[in-house]
Order: sequence, then structure tokens, then C-alpha cells
Amino acid sequence: MLSPIVAQDQQLPLIHEVHADDHYLLNTIDGEWFEILHNLPWEDYREPAAAYYDALYEFNINEHQPVIGAGETTAETKEQAKQRLLFARATMQAKDDPPAQIIYQGEVVQLNATKVDPMDLAPGVVPLRLVGRKPKCFFSLLKSFLGTTLMGFAPEPEQVYLLLKSNPSFARVCGFAPKEKDRPEQYSYIQVPSLRKLQQFDQVMRQAGIWERIKVSEVKANFQAGVIEAEKELVGDTTHYHAASGFETLTYEDEKGNVKKKSQSKVTKGCRCEDWSSCPHEWELSDEGAGTVVKSKTKMYWGHKASVIGLPKQGVAIDAVAVTDAATHDGQTFFPHVEKVFGQYPELAACIERALYDSACDDAELKARFKDELGIELKASFNPRRSKALTSDLPRGIEKITPYGVPICLAGHELDYKGIRYDSGKFIYEAPRQDDGSSVCASCSRRWDCCNRSTQSGRTVTVSFDTLPQVDPNDPPMAKRFKAIMSRRPSVERMIKRLKCDLGDDRLSKRGNESFQAYLDKTMIAYHLLIRHLH
Ligand SMILES: [Zn+2]
Repeated sequence: MLSPIVAQDQQLPLIHEVHADDHYLLNTIDGEWFEILHNLPWEDYREPAAAYYDALYEFNINEHQPVIGAGETTAETKEQAKQRLLFARATMQAKDDPPAQIIYQGEVVQLNATKVDPMDLAPGVVPLRLVGRKPKCFFSLLKSFLGTTLMGFAPEPEQVYLLLKSNPSFARVCGFAPKEKDRPEQYSYIQVPSLRKLQQFDQVMRQAGIWERIKVSEVKANFQAGVIEAEKELVGDTTHYHAASGFETLTYEDEKGNVKKKSQSKVTKGCRCEDWSSCPHEWELSDEGAGTVVKSKTKMYWGHKASVIGLPKQGVAIDAVAVTDAATHDGQTFFPHVEKVFGQYPELAACIERALYDSACDDAELKARFKDELGIELKASFNPRRSKALTSDLPRGIEKITPYGVPICLAGHELDYKGIRYDSGKFIYEAPRQDDGSSVCASCSRRWDCCNRSTQSGRTVTVSFDTLPQVDPNDPPMAKRFKAIMSRRPSVERMIKRLKCDLGDDRLSKRGNESFQAYLDKTMIAYHLLIRHLH
């Protein structure tokens, strides 16, 4: 065994064993996870390693202190607690109130000044400050979580434990060894960790904000190495993950005295008292952040909501964050998330001129906010609101005009948008052309109700701005340019599929926003390692 006592300038004798099946695994097609872990440059992770050991040290000290303050008392009943927690939710704040925290921001446990020098760390070298049993090596633990994600499993301790136990190649490439057969009870820091130790690692990483720090540094590393390049546009969307909790439907009175209903996770207590109805500890939500995610009138999910932002041309996700309350409308999540991404990546922010979103963000006020506060254009898919197709007072030969501003003629052709006549305030359309360049009108049987002309140019129609009040003449969604820009928006859906299905699982096994954010961070780290590897 290596001695952890290493003098400052002494080169550590690193043992590098080469196993025959390493070469085999490096050559298998789906062996990406193995290659990435095998070649992971541990030197790049010395800073988070030092932060982890410092946090672990404090965690060990604080572990023996009671979590709940002794003097805490509450006379609150369970029903009162449900209402208090309901009205505290981000989706229950009045419009005039100071804006709620839409994007989840974890409270990172503040540590005393850093004690561990990152340069003293290496795989298998653990700081001396941690007395007692030599702790498991940070680098091995980190690899085991990243490898689990890269294999497509949820980055949670239970899954990591199963894989380490069942896949010896995986355990070995992480830096763990099987238990010695003749001394199975003997503890060694190099053995596959217990489930409890993996849970503790995940918890320390989460509470000290280290997962997020690694996420940001992976994205920055990919920018610096040219693996990803800054673009002029950002694209965003939200997605839901199924919650690992149940819900109850609460009835409440709104400001106007109307009785309303809202789903909320059940209340619980963090203490182990026998009688929760009389004990002094405060009620809390069993799955804070979970809510009803509305996808359409008929599709609703009990889950957590994540906001994802990426670069549309390269199709690369840059960030994924938990939304504080999953019931929040998408129109509210994009601005604070873009603001956060701009703060984290100022060099990227300097390049961005435009942000793309679906129709949830088609809102004049929101667009103005993007322009005024972030200096960029918000371009959203057109939302016709409640407009219906127009069927009366139409130009000759036109059957209807869709809410999207597209006239359809009696023969069923969609007319092409051609432009605007500003002086008379009209949109101009023309009948579409066939492959040979001639107008569809030339051979149309309805010609006599419509064009009634011998020219080959076909039908031209003008529609006044007043007829289509839902369409902004300065940015008509019928225009080719609008469509060309919005054609880049669906790339975010592929990013989401990668994060949600290829790396990990859309069914959560842990509750609460802190775990959900860590889940997203771990997934993003693996995603950016994979992008670098495939570059
Ligand atoms: Zn209690």
C-alpha cells in the first residue's frame, strides 16, 4: 500500500497496471465509458478534490451534532402547514410581489478557509487531516458516478453501487479493487465502497456545490479547447422528469375569495419523533419543487421541471437547471436561466445576439425585457392566442385565412407570403408555383371564381393588417426569414433527448430540488466529457 505521507517535492510512485482486457475494452464499440474513464486526466480534478476533502472533514465533524435546533417549536397543525407551504410556492406569488426565485439556486454550505492544497492530491493520496479510516479516493468515487451516467444509468448512489459490484472492469477502471478473499472483513480504502459511502460522497458533493462547479468547468474546458464554439444564438426549452413522490390536491382561497385547487407533494417531518402531531419540529414538503407539469390540455405529469439552454447550430446543451416549482409556466423560466448562463459564461454572452424559444415565450413584454436587460433579441414561435381561422369578408377565391396568417384558396392551396406594403398597411400573398415555375392557377378548375385572368402570374392577394391583429407586421411569422430562424429551434429537443434518455433516466429516484439539480449537474458533466471524447 502507498503511504499517504508524501513530502512536498517528492514524486509519488504511481503504479500503473496494464490488464489485457483493458485493451479489449478500449476497442469495443460501446466502450466509450471505458475509454473516457481510462483516460480521464485526474490532474484536472485536483481543485474539486481538495474542496471535497475539506467538505468531508466538516461533514464528519457536523455529523454528530443534532440537525434540528433544540429550541425549535411550532404550534402549527398539519393542515396549517400544507397551506403555508402552498402559499410559499413560486407559482403562488401575486404578480406585483417581488419576483419569486424561478430557477432553483441551492444553498451551498459555506466552508471555513480551504485547508487542503490541491497540488498534494493524486489518485490514492488522501489528505492526512482526515483521521481514522483512510477515506475512499475522490478520483475513484468521481469516476464511478461519471461512468454510471456514461453507461446510460441514473447517476445515483444505488445504481453506482450495483454497477461497481457487478462489473469488475468498471470497478477496476475507477481504481477500486475487489475484497481480499482471505480477509473479507478487512477494510481497505481501495475496495469497492459501501452504498453508505457512495451516498455520503454524493451528499457532500451536492451540499458543497461541487457537482455544479465541475459542470461549469467542463463546459468552459470544452469552449477553451475548441470542442464547442460560441454561436450568435441560444435556444431553450423545458422538460419534465417523473417525480419519486405522490401528491395530494389542496383546496385554497385566492385573493378574490374564489375556491381553487392545486396539487402539492405531501407534508412530512425531518425528525424521528414518534408523534408528529405534537412534536415541536416544522412540517416540510416531502418533495420540494415537484408540481404538475402541464404539457397540453390532456397531458399532465407529476414531476420536476428542468430548463435546458443550448447552442442550436452545434446542437450542444450548455446548461440544465431545476425550476424551483415544476408548475411554473415556461414563459417565466427562460429569462432567469439565460441571465444565469450569461453570468457563468461571459465570453459566450458577448457573442449571443438572439435567443430562440417555442410559443410559450411569444410575449411582447418578455421580448422587451430581453432587449432592455440582456441586449439580445428574443425570437419565439408564433402564438396565435385565441384567434380562429377567418372565413368571412375574404378576398375573392379565398376560402379562409388561418390564425397563423396563411390564406387558403378554394382549390386548397396555401398562398405564399411575399411581403408587406407598408404605405397601405397590407400583407401580400401569391399563389404557389409548380415545379416548372408556372402558377398553380394556370390549370386550376376554380379559376373562373378567382383569378379570371389570362396572365400566367397567378393570383395575388392582399390582406390588411387590421384583419390579422395577432400578427406583428414588423416580424410576421409567415416570412421566410422568420421560418428560417425558427427552424433551428427544435435542435433543443434532441439535446433534451440526449440528456434525459441516452444519459440517465427520466424517472427520478430521489426527492427534492437539491437532489434534482445534482442529478442534472452529474448528467451534464458526463454529457460534456462525451462530447469532448467524440470530438
Ligand atoms: Zn419531531
